[in-house]
Amino acid sequence: MQRFAQRVAVITGAGGGIGRATALRMASEGARVVAVDADHAAGKQTAEEAGGLFVPADVTDGEDVRQAFATARDTYGSVDVAFNNAGISPSEDASILDTDLETWKRVQETNLTSVYLCCQHALEHMRTQGRGAIVNTASFVATMGAATSQISYTASKGGVLSLSRELGVQFAREGIRVNALSPGPVNTPLLQELFANDPELAQRRLVHVPFGRFAEPEEIAAATAFLASDDASFITAANFVVDGGISGAYVTPL
Ligand code: NAD
Repeated sequence: MQRFAQRVAVITGAGGGIGRATALRMASEGARVVAVDADHAAGKQTAEEAGGLFVPADVTDGEDVRQAFATARDTYGSVDVAFNNAGISPSEDASILDTDLETWKRVQETNLTSVYLCCQHALEHMRTQGRGAIVNTASFVATMGAATSQISYTASKGGVLSLSRELGVQFAREGIRVNALSPGPVNTPLLQELFANDPELAQRRLVHVPFGRFAEPEEIAAATAFLASDDASFITAANFVVDGGISGAYVTPL
């Protein structure tokens, strides 16, 4: 399949688990990948592996984001796909009883304000072209509650979901699709770091997954590639859930 031949895909958080796998998947289908990350080493590595371009940027910074999308357009001629995916999940973000204001704000800025900025700048190019596909990474916690709270993270992903739906509705008649991707727990550095020292923490979550395992980044990348491609030409303003059945489960197999 070469669903992204002649297409330019800007991917934020491209140095991380889901971003890297998606960059490689889209590149394998012909995309020219612009890998955006604040982590220079990781972002560069993904860009090299994908045969694309690395643009260092802090996605919470409006000027950095503007430049990242402008560089994509100036280098490759268009912005066809924006996968707004960079995000954090710091351990200080926990119960509302313990999470301080500074942590709350840092998570909101990185996970939600960044998506607002990336959509704003991606849309600038896509509206000129009269076409484009935006995929924003939300999470299954945007629609499901957890007693193991990460309050700012959950609220930020709820924001990503609402924002994506509204943009999908607003820009549909301009040929631009906007969808939220809601992964369940994925086996990436973000999750590995969280559970490294405490297997019980992982087990507490695994019990709710009908498959009995976390997703691999490549499984999320496959869903993202679908959503960003013309195969999803009638899908917009959707919450695309890739959660191994968690949100449909009451009692799971032992
Ligand atoms: P990851 O930590 O492996 O990768 C995240 C990447 O984002 C890193 O390369 C990091 O350097 C980059 N980044 C962080 N802050 C940035 C900033 N300010 N500017 C630029 N880059 C920045 O995480 P991942 O698991 O691949 O997560 C990707 C997305 O998927 C996140 O939005 C996350 O919330 C979401 N998600 C993850 C899971 C999971 O279980 N891993 C589940 C649901 C949703």
